[in-house]
Amino acid sequence: MSSFQTVRGMRDFMPEEAKMMRYIEGKARRIAELYGYKEIITPVVESYELLSAKAGEEVRLRMYAFKDLGGRMVALRPEFTPSVARLVATTLRNEPRPFRLFCVGSLYRYDEPQMGRYREFWQSNFELMGSNKPEADAEIIMLTNDFLRSVGLKNYVFKVGHVGVLRGIFAQENVEEKNVNEVMQLMDKKAYAEAVRRVKEIGVSKKCVENVQRLIELKGKDTLEIVGKMRECVGEYDKALEAVENLQEILKLIAEGESKITITVDAGFARGLEYYTGAIFEVNIPELDIALAGGGRYDRLIELFGGEPTPAVGIAHGLDRIMLAMQKQGTKMDAAEAKKVVVIPAKEELKADALKIANKLRGAGITVEVEVMGRKMGKALEDADRRKMDYAIIVGERELKDGAVVLRDMANRVQNSVKIEELVERVKG
Ligand code: AMP
Repeated sequence: MSSFQTVRGMRDFMPEEAKMMRYIEGKARRIAELYGYKEIITPVVESYELLSAKAGEEVRLRMYAFKDLGGRMVALRPEFTPSVARLVATTLRNEPRPFRLFCVGSLYRYDEPQMGRYREFWQSNFELMGSNKPEADAEIIMLTNDFLRSVGLKNYVFKVGHVGVLRGIFAQENVEEKNVNEVMQLMDKKAYAEAVRRVKEIGVSKKCVENVQRLIELKGKDTLEIVGKMRECVGEYDKALEAVENLQEILKLIAEGESKITITVDAGFARGLEYYTGAIFEVNIPELDIALAGGGRYDRLIELFGGEPTPAVGIAHGLDRIMLAMQKQGTKMDAAEAKKVVVIPAKEELKADALKIANKLRGAGITVEVEVMGRKMGKALEDADRRKMDYAIIVGERELKDGAVVLRDMANRVQNSVKIEELVERVKG
């Protein structure tokens, strides 16, 4: 029984990583504040029915689903959106729109573990519900840009597409939704040749096959040019044309609002989740071949959950992958590092005094550890050195009689006697 390990796909965050994860989470929370997104905390366990309703095959098959002891079919959440949509369909049903909602926490998918892919992973999730306007889509992209910039990442690229283009074409060709979803899933997996073969099998017009093929190949950084070519491809399909126009408006708003976003428009871009109805996006970085974030517009999910018709757009940022990208790019965390202090009693009888002095410093907001191993002074200082403490405070009998302690600057190896009432100022200064 002595060799327990984490379950496959699960991992521990050791202090350095935990600190980085919380740092990234803090940056996401700051963006939520700046953009007026209110945090909600939803349960990790939700009904299987809710989570599977519109997730798409990829996610559905990878859920941690089980019967609880009461016989309910439940699952660990594989994403936040169904929980947020559930709230908007129920508790928030009659509240004034729009809702700007933020969640952060762990998600669970039985994915095949590999670099940047875990079975428990973390996301910050932003949902803007109640608006069908392109400025809402633009806001989600812009806040993601601000977030990634705020953690110090560079060279990331937004990939933007629109599911309304292909869905619009297929709808006009009377293709069943089941078949459309299948084609989109193949495209999501970048199995384009197979997707085209499926389209042919379904039995659409020759023209349709040609257009789909052309769309799949259409991508590039000159967003206006690509959108122009998309427009040519969808000429006769009204719904698809509307989608292209919507995409163009979103891109225009972003370009006019914030010039420093790198965007690739990709007409053949599809995402596995079935609930998307409009623009979809993903963020990539050259150092990794997996996406840092993904999202899009889903205008019908809340209705599907029995709520009022509520158009919505959202994005999930993969915090584990953002951390990985920061490590790859050598991104440093902001140096708002607090001073670290250890208090060491010079002998047994002074333990209580050491605790008292430590508490006084904590009261002033200073991080303090107390020597609890009963080590001799030399050993305790050696340990403080090893752990890169900024100061050691040595509580000795002689100094204490004068209301003082010895303050040792660990890096410079100098120490002097300091009055206890001046200690806070000296450590902070
Ligand atoms: P999705 O909605 O599936 O695109 O997920 C949104 C984001 O969550 C992705 O872009 C990833 O950054 C992150 N993510 C999804 N699945 C995993 C996973 N298994 N491990 C780590 N991060 C993940």
